[in-house]
Amino acid sequence: MSNTEATVATDFQAPESIVDGVVIGKVLGDNSPGAKVSMKDHWQYQKDHANLVSPLNRRKFRVMVVGTGLAGGAAAAALGELGYDVKVFTYHDAPRRAHSIAAQGGVNSARGKKVDNDGAYRHVKDTVKGGDYRCRENDCWRLAVESVRVIDHLNAIGAPFAREYGGTLATRSFGGVQVSRTYYTRGQTGQQLQLSTTSALQRQIGLGNVEIFTHNELVDIIVADGRCQGAIMRNLITGELKVHTAHAVILATGGYGNVYHMSTLAKNSNASAIMRAYDQGAYFASPSFIQFHPTGLPVNAHWQSKTILMSESLRNDARIWTPKKKGDERPANDIPEDERDYFLERRYPAFGNLVPRDVASRANSQQINAGYGVGPLKNSVYLDLRDAIERLGQPVIKERYSNLIQMYEEAIGEDPYKVPMRIAPTCHFTMGGLWSDFNQMTSIPGLFTGGEASWTYHGANRLGANSLLSGSVDGWFTLPFTIPNYLGPLLGTERLATMLRRLSRL
Ligand SMILES: Cc1cc2nc3c(=O)[nH]c(=O)nc-3n(C[C@H](O)[C@H](O)[C@H](O)COP(=O)(O)OP(=O)(O)OC[C@H]3O[C@@H](n4cnc5c(N)ncnc54)[C@H](O)[C@@H]3O)c2cc1C
Repeated sequence: MSNTEATVATDFQAPESIVDGVVIGKVLGDNSPGAKVSMKDHWQYQKDHANLVSPLNRRKFRVMVVGTGLAGGAAAAALGELGYDVKVFTYHDAPRRAHSIAAQGGVNSARGKKVDNDGAYRHVKDTVKGGDYRCRENDCWRLAVESVRVIDHLNAIGAPFAREYGGTLATRSFGGVQVSRTYYTRGQTGQQLQLSTTSALQRQIGLGNVEIFTHNELVDIIVADGRCQGAIMRNLITGELKVHTAHAVILATGGYGNVYHMSTLAKNSNASAIMRAYDQGAYFASPSFIQFHPTGLPVNAHWQSKTILMSESLRNDARIWTPKKKGDERPANDIPEDERDYFLERRYPAFGNLVPRDVASRANSQQINAGYGVGPLKNSVYLDLRDAIERLGQPVIKERYSNLIQMYEEAIGEDPYKVPMRIAPTCHFTMGGLWSDFNQMTSIPGLFTGGEASWTYHGANRLGANSLLSGSVDGWFTLPFTIPNYLGPLLGTERLATMLRRLSRL
C-alpha cells in the first residue's frame, strides 16, 4: 500500500489540502500489516515479514544518519554493528552534545517488575489516553513491547540506572499513570542514556564501521528518481559545502520547541533539517501540537533568554498549590495550611499532583490567570517539598532529587528545602514533526526519521518519560529492522555518486 492511499473514508468535508497527495479527512496509509493480525501483533508481524540483507551485502549499502541524540546515535551504532556503511553527522562538536543529554526525569518501560499490575496493555492505554486518543495505536504497541528490551539493552551498554537495595532496577511514577514504570538515574537520566549510547557509537567509530562528521549541518536533502539519495552538508568550521550520497537517509535531528523564545530546549536545537525535508515534499504532521511542561522555572525578568525544566519526577513528592486569596503577598511559609489551595489534588483526586502534563499545565495557567499566581511577576505556582521532607526526611529527598534542587537554587537563589519552589508552564516538547509510516519512513522513499524530529506516537500530550523511550526504541529497535527492509530490494543499485562518477567517465 502506498503512503498516500486512503484507508479510512469519512463524511468530513474540508477545503482541499495544499499538499500534493494529501486529502484532508482521509487517514494516510501506514504500511502496517493492517487487518492481517491484531494491532498488538503488528510489529512482530512486520519484523517477521521484513526483507533481510545478508551480512556480506551490508557493506554495499551506505546509510546516512543526521543527528547523534538518542535516536540518531542509537540508529548509527546499531546499523554500524550490523555491518552497514554508516556516516553519521552532527552540527555539535561531539556526538554526546545532543540535546538528549539535558533530559532529567526518566524513561518508561512496561517491564512490570513491580506488583502494581503494570504491563504492555496499560502502557499502550496510558500513551493513547495521554495522547488525547490521537496516537497511531500500532506505533504505541511497538513502543510498549520494545520498551522491555530497551531498558535491558541500555543497562547492558552502561546506563547506571537507580537500583533498589536488593540490586533490581528501581522505578518511580510519572504524570498520567497510576503505576511505577519510569526507570531513572537520579535527575540525570538523559545524560546517562546519551553517554552510554554515545559510547556504543564511539565503539563503532573506533572499529571503522561508522564514520562521524562533527560540526556538519544539513543544508538540504537530495531527492533523485523519487528517492532520497543523500544530503548536502556544510562544514561549520570551514564553510565548505559537500554532497554526501547514500542509499537511505535518517533524520534524527530533534524537535522545534525553540519556535517559542522561552522553551526548555537548548538554544541551538532548531528545526532546520526537518524544514529542508518539508521543502522537498516530506509531509509534516500536526506541527501545532506542542507540549507545555507544568514544571518549568518561571520567567523572572524581561532579559531572560530561556526557561529551565524542573523534572516532572518532583511531582511524585512535591505538592502544587497557590494561596486561596488572590494577590496574596505573604511569603509562602507564612501562609497557613487552611489558606492553601492544593488545586490539582482538589480537582483531580484520583491522580492528584500526577495528572498528565497538559492537564497540570492547563490547571496551573488557569490558576495564574485567575489572579492566584505567586512570585515577583505573579506568574507561577508553588511546588512544595515540605510535607515529603517531614514524612521521609531530608536525606531521602536529597537522594532522589539533589541535582534538581541544586539547579533550582543556582537559578533562583532560594533553597527548596526551606522555601517552596516556583514553577510555570513552559514550551518543552514537540509532538508533531515529520510524518512517517509504520516503518518510520517519511513520504519520501528512502528518507527515514526518528526521535523528536518525527511525529510518531503523536498525541495532544505525550506521556512523560515516553520521549527518551521513543528515541531509544526508534534508534535501537525499529530503524535497524525497517532500513534493511527498504534496502533489501535495492541490492545491486548504485549509489548516486557512484553512478555519476561512472557516467562522467563515459
Ligand atoms: C530539559 C528537558 C528534559 C527532558 N526530560 C525528559 C525525560 O525525563 N524523559 C523523557 O522521556 N524525555 C525528556 N525530554 C525529552 C527528550 O529529551 C527528547 O525528546 C529527546 O532526547 C530527543 O532526542 P532526539 O534524539 O530525537 O534529538 P536530540 O537529542 O535533540 O538530538 C538531535 C541531534 O541532531 C543534530 N542536528 C539537529 N539539526 C541538525 C542539522 N541541521 N544538521 C546536522 N545535525 C543536526 C544535533 O546536533 C543532535 O545531534 C526532555 C527534554 C528537555 C528539553
